[in-house]
Amino acid sequence: MEKMVETTRRLVDELISSTDTPREETRKHEIKHEINRLLDEMLLSLEKREPESSSSPEEEEQVVTPFVVSVKDGGKIDYDKVIEKFGCKRIDESLIDRVERLTCRKAHVFLRRGFFFAHRDLDEILDAYERGKKFYLYTGRGPSSESLHLGHLIPFMFTKYLQEAFKVPLVIQITDDEKCIWKSLEPKDSRKLGTENVKDIIACGFDVTKTFIFSNFGTVGGCSKFYENMVEVGKRVTVNKMMATYGITGEDPAAKISFPAVQAVPSFSSSFPDLFLGNDKLPCLIPCAIDQDPYFRMTRDVAPRLKYIKPALIESKFLPALRGKNGKMSASDANSAIYINDSAEDIKRKVNSAVTGGRDNLEDQIKYGANLEEDIPFQYLSFFLEDDAELEHIKKEYGEGRMQSGEVKKRLTQVLTEVVERHRKARAAVTEEMVDAFMAVRHLPSKFE
Ligand code: ATP
Repeated sequence: MEKMVETTRRLVDELISSTDTPREETRKHEIKHEINRLLDEMLLSLEKREPESSSSPEEEEQVVTPFVVSVKDGGKIDYDKVIEKFGCKRIDESLIDRVERLTCRKAHVFLRRGFFFAHRDLDEILDAYERGKKFYLYTGRGPSSESLHLGHLIPFMFTKYLQEAFKVPLVIQITDDEKCIWKSLEPKDSRKLGTENVKDIIACGFDVTKTFIFSNFGTVGGCSKFYENMVEVGKRVTVNKMMATYGITGEDPAAKISFPAVQAVPSFSSSFPDLFLGNDKLPCLIPCAIDQDPYFRMTRDVAPRLKYIKPALIESKFLPALRGKNGKMSASDANSAIYINDSAEDIKRKVNSAVTGGRDNLEDQIKYGANLEEDIPFQYLSFFLEDDAELEHIKKEYGEGRMQSGEVKKRLTQVLTEVVERHRKARAAVTEEMVDAFMAVRHLPSKFE
């Protein structure tokens, strides 16, 4: 149905581009306007009849939404099922090779090791890039805690690599409004957490000449085009669709219904007339974890109706919680997370408390080896230990019983302490002037200028 609607729109565009007398021209535009209005109405009524499936979390084997990530009975997230359910595509070797060729550098470990595993239209972004066409990156953070945890670092580390490799501009949205709505924070507290998070984000090493960081409370009302796009998106999504997609119920605050449009519109370059000098056809690539996909599915549905380009996505698996593979490291559960302001002692204690796939006694460990799928320290090493050869060595030795879980935890403690220490130093160097520079509205150049 949506394809039919898109085709009709395209045909109308074709019709309108043929030359006629000014009077006929005006009439043709009136007809186009009327047809588009009718098409929008058809799409809305279709959504009213067929709301997205909204089975309750209790009924589903696994739940992956922007608000809940869980698997029934402590099971493991089945990412193939997530891909199937969401309708995105798996990133294959040929796509990774292509990224390496176009950027003339080895792919980031998160890509090489399959943590960024799914995409939408990444191939189209690369096709356009190859033809010399620009794009921009968009990612974000909902300030749920004063400090980021290691899970939050994943999209930022990866985005930094993408920015450097493709030499493209980046916008980072701080959704201080979201956490105010969902976590019942006071606006002033949510803003304060957001400001602290901005310093952590800057400390990841983004290029200030190509990066714009903004908070929703601080910026959205002040940019009329951004707000205009929010209203345009809101006009094209039914309340039914919002409720089904985001699990919102009739008892929830009404603000939850309006928030998804705020997260949607940074995907459209027209929302940033100053940054992109009025270029409203600049394609957007969004690096994020797969739980954010519902926001951008909705955005991609609406984009053609606004004559905007659908944003492309590159999506990651989750860094699991310390206590198990079920779910993700989350600020909602402080015990599940290692924060980037944790002390070396905290890190050691937390790593020692992590669920391990090592056997109960030395004899069994030697005989059977560790279950690496279950082993959280080994999985964290797969994310953060950059040396491929060392990781392979640990995988073999630990998996075949010649290494004990204590050694793996010790190595992980060293690796994470280094990551956190490096970040602490970089954060200490972030000044208020740097924050102002990153958050100043200004033109963002790209490689192609
Ligand atoms: P939390 O519950 O910890 O606040 P969140 O998903 O609400 O997590 P956000 O700040 O909204 O946190 O997320 C920012 C980005 O970080 C998103 O792309 C999100 O998917 C990603 N992210 C959050 N937790 C993890 C994790 N454990 N592993 C990988 N990515 C994560």
